Amino acid sequence: MPAPTIASLVEELREIVGPEAVLAAGPELIVYECDGYQIEKNSPDVAVFPRTTEDVARIVRAAARHNAPVVPRGAGTSLAGGCLPVGGGVMIVLTRMKQILEINIRDRYAVVQPGLVNAHLTQALKGTGYHYAPDPSSQGACTIGGNVATNSGGPHTLKYGVTVNHVLGLEAVLADGRVIQCGGPAEDGPGLDLVGALVGSEGTLAIVTRVWVRLTRDPQGWRTMLAVFDAVDDATNTISQIIGEGIIPAALELMDKGIVEAVEQAFHFGFPLDAEAVLIIEVDGLEAGLDQQRDRIIGICGQHHAREVRQAADPAQRQLLWKCRKQAFGAIGRLEPNYCTQDGVVPRTKVPYMFRRIGEIGRQYGVRIINLAHAGDGNLHPILLYDEREPGVVERVLHASHDILDECLACGGSVTGEHGIGVEKLAHMSRMFTADDLAAMERLRGAFNPDNRLSPRKMLPTAGACGLEQTHPGRRAAL
Ligand SMILES: Cc1cc2nc3c(=O)[nH]c(=O)nc-3n(C[C@H](O)[C@H](O)[C@H](O)COP(=O)(O)OP(=O)(O)OC[C@H]3O[C@@H](n4cnc5c(N)ncnc54)[C@H](O)[C@@H]3O)c2cc1C
Repeated sequence: MPAPTIASLVEELREIVGPEAVLAAGPELIVYECDGYQIEKNSPDVAVFPRTTEDVARIVRAAARHNAPVVPRGAGTSLAGGCLPVGGGVMIVLTRMKQILEINIRDRYAVVQPGLVNAHLTQALKGTGYHYAPDPSSQGACTIGGNVATNSGGPHTLKYGVTVNHVLGLEAVLADGRVIQCGGPAEDGPGLDLVGALVGSEGTLAIVTRVWVRLTRDPQGWRTMLAVFDAVDDATNTISQIIGEGIIPAALELMDKGIVEAVEQAFHFGFPLDAEAVLIIEVDGLEAGLDQQRDRIIGICGQHHAREVRQAADPAQRQLLWKCRKQAFGAIGRLEPNYCTQDGVVPRTKVPYMFRRIGEIGRQYGVRIINLAHAGDGNLHPILLYDEREPGVVERVLHASHDILDECLACGGSVTGEHGIGVEKLAHMSRMFTADDLAAMERLRGAFNPDNRLSPRKMLPTAGACGLEQTHPGRRAAL
């Protein structure tokens, strides 16, 4: 690929969106060097902030003329390096495309621009009796476009499903600047399911510029519980039994001792600091029957030696409990300057085993690991704490991360439940998929993105890459 002539491209971009919507000076670009995955960094040559689909199409066409790579970015909360501008080039930051274009309660959909913050849609829907169900813990910052690109989940995924279950249609700009619409306000359109292909494609197929989302009726009631355990095994066995008995809670989240300590310091909720694990268990739906479900759950917790089960007394307490859970990552900043969050999935019955293995792997590499989990889904988020100034620690964190993900695969699970592959888990793709599987995905990508300029070297491994091989030219922190 010949080197793009950046100066003339920057000039063109300024003409398209105006000079105030283009950043091209080195220091202005520092914030765009990485996302929530801080281990690898690389600067884009230019960051541009469109307001309309037409702006995005013109930017993409200009980048194509200069043969420059293009990386879309929402809020940059990806934990897998999805926004890393591997080959430099143009970063299209969609945060100015943040309008809610339509809310249609009778037909139960909303139309939004991709840069809309997830929680802003929730706020706009308050009082309508409907909500947008996918609620990643980062929902106060992350965008609907980023959620679509990573097929985000969240605490309530267990009952309500992930983003793809709530997207009815998409408008997107292709690699050559053409604009397509797949799906729309109506359910189950004919033709190939291109919405299904685009959701979770991490910016490698097209740039999403408009989203039709499904709205879900608010439940009539909730029962939200906090169960406290003296042993992680008891907490994880409780999870398997609740689901095994046919109860599908709206959410079933686990926080271990390390997380509880950080969260308690930050929010003073009253978590017991000597507990080894707590579960947040929420059931929702019609009022009739909720008390019975709650009582069965309390009974199961008791069978597994829960020390106590508290119920949120009112909506304010429920909200505070969820605030603690959803802002747990922020609280972790109190423990170490850096952390790397993993995102493995295992069959639920393997959760107790995985927690033990994560502990062993942490000890083997001398890395402190604390755990959050969307445990009802078997989706584990071990958080590896480190200080990148310590020589050799990043290497050990990477090795420990890889071992944890390998163990998830050995359990019959997956290397990502919701954060995506990004650059972080490229090496694992060839462990999860056969060469034929990957070739089929490669051909699909080629149909949308023939010269691979959209989000290059993301999600699908370069043929022959393996292990911890560095497939990208960017800087790696403290290696
Ligand atoms: C504290 C914290 C908690 C989190 N909790 C959760 C959780 O509970 N569940 C969960 O699933 N994730 C979670 N995440 C991960 C992250 O928030 C999600 O992946 C989120 O969907 C990313 O949204 P974003 O707007 O920040 O996207 P970005 O990080 O900006 O981008 C993510 C990916 O999407 C691509 N992209 C962005 N916008 C577009 C677009 N318009 N068109 C095409 N591609 C695009 C980017 O190129 C990149 O590959 C968490 C992250 C943090 C930091």
